[in-house]
Amino acid sequence: MKRVVILGSTGSIGTQTLDVIAQFPDRFKVVGLAARQNESLLLEQAARFDVRHLALFQGATAPHIRTGMEGLIELATLSEADIVVVSVAGVIGLQPTLAAIEAGKDIALASKEVLVAAGEIVMPAVARNGVSLNPIDSEHSAVFQCVQGSKPEQIDEVILTASGGPFRGWSRPQLESISVQQALNHPTWSMGGKITIDSATLMNKALEMIEARWLFGVKPEQIKAVVHPQSIIHSMVKLTDGSVLAQMGWPNMRLPILYALAYPERLPNDLKPWSPLDSPRLDFEPIDTDVFPGPKMAIEAMQMGGTAPCAFNAANEEAANAFLRGEIPFLAIDETVGTVLALHKTKPVTLEDLLSVDNEAREQTRQLLAQRS
Ligand code: MG
Repeated sequence: MKRVVILGSTGSIGTQTLDVIAQFPDRFKVVGLAARQNESLLLEQAARFDVRHLALFQGATAPHIRTGMEGLIELATLSEADIVVVSVAGVIGLQPTLAAIEAGKDIALASKEVLVAAGEIVMPAVARNGVSLNPIDSEHSAVFQCVQGSKPEQIDEVILTASGGPFRGWSRPQLESISVQQALNHPTWSMGGKITIDSATLMNKALEMIEARWLFGVKPEQIKAVVHPQSIIHSMVKLTDGSVLAQMGWPNMRLPILYALAYPERLPNDLKPWSPLDSPRLDFEPIDTDVFPGPKMAIEAMQMGGTAPCAFNAANEEAANAFLRGEIPFLAIDETVGTVLALHKTKPVTLEDLLSVDNEAREQTRQLLAQRS
């Protein structure tokens, strides 16, 4: 029986994690739930799963709910927890994740910002504390599964697949006037709003490339991304003898969530398995980085090192949310991120600096976006 804390239980990954856990009452027990602000859903989840330890980042009306960053950290370090699912949006997940690692908890990680901004701090903490960091994101879960049994130095390339988003094959001028609704219409995955915009700009792939670097201990030039519109192959790894391994499945987050929770075990479940004879054909094409410069910028950010990926992520989050609110055109997202990255004076990553770098990059993004309009 694994005892689970979920940070971000009311979001898309959090609610799906609870659905998965509900299927395995003899394997997983929820002992803590935390969310940003959705108190009514948090309380509903607490009642359904009989959970006593609760936290709400932005304050709560119920007196037994812990609050603020302190509340998240208390939940992340609960003595009765074995594994902490981190699925909060934004850099607020970073401190609780580090606290959980230092407290010896395994991590099932969905929040991108944790590794993008602070992989340099998080991975040594994982090694020092002997905990397991299990990725939930489908691409990283695929690579994580494919490298089981290989040594880190046997990984030659990590090949992430990208659906290409709703605007695959479009030109830059065609993207000028697209609406929020068009960008939210993802061809293969149903996800939260911000990550769906990131899929449309391919910024999501850019951030995943940065995460892959830390998760699998590879250099920026060993990370590739390829468009695979059917989202059946969730990613691949090329080993030093030239063998390429792929992990396949219908696009459904419940399988990578289950693997991250159950690792190193595999639990039989009622999800429909992919089968070759039911499959659509599998296509691959290069990413058009002239139209979608995000992945190219990710390599630049990694090569700049230090705080550059943190600034890159912060600028993207600000710009993507401004687009979601209908304030800026679609193409302003990656243009502004590119400007913030070019202006960034990178410095070594420390936990104290990261939050201010994140804030400064957001402020700079807001200013650049205001100047445009
Ligand atoms: Mg993904």
